[in-house]
Amino acid sequence: MQEKPPHKFFRWVWFLDRIQFWHKDDLVHRRYADAARSLAVPKDHSIWKKVRTEEADYKGAHSDIVEFFKAFQKACHKRNIPLRAFEFVRTAERQQELYEKGFTKAQAGFGAHQYGMACDCIVGHLGWSLSKKQWACLIAIGKEVARRRNIKIDSGYDWDFWDPAHWELEGWKEMIAPKQPDKPYKKNKFYDIKTGKLHEIE
Ligand SMILES: [Zn+2]
Repeated sequence: MQEKPPHKFFRWVWFLDRIQFWHKDDLVHRRYADAARSLAVPKDHSIWKKVRTEEADYKGAHSDIVEFFKAFQKACHKRNIPLRAFEFVRTAERQQELYEKGFTKAQAGFGAHQYGMACDCIVGHLGWSLSKKQWACLIAIGKEVARRRNIKIDSGYDWDFWDPAHWELEGWKEMIAPKQPDKPYKKNKFYDIKTGKLHEIE
């Protein structure tokens, strides 16, 4: 028996169905509600063993992005959507490699992943192969989670360079910038890459 998503979520999905335009997605899911349902898999499916997040996955990431991901994952798992993190922190070499392949707009030194300020979230059994409507439903859950927790976050779904799996902390560039005496400074908490412990950076 699948768990029923909270009523409010479906009200939002039904709203999208009323305002939608004719789209090629209609061949896959006629309505957003169908797309949302298609993301769910039964709890005894083998994919659930593969979507667990280990501490090693988010070592070096900012505590806010980790908190967001954990809450996002919990909210999805509650709805039987096997969300998982593909990648948090990236090395400069890997960022440059992805840039050269055209997977990212950011060159080494310019991407949020390199500073542990971003996370790519995908759905276990589908990976990146979600329809536009499926992404829209997933992103709606993520944004609601961020709003409730008051975590300021940007979704790559809203960008011209469409990257719907990507989430990054709003204003991360200011967070990594050197301390400026005229600006109030927010302490940054990071998971240490070596020890995995949370520590603050001034
Ligand atoms: Zn990303």
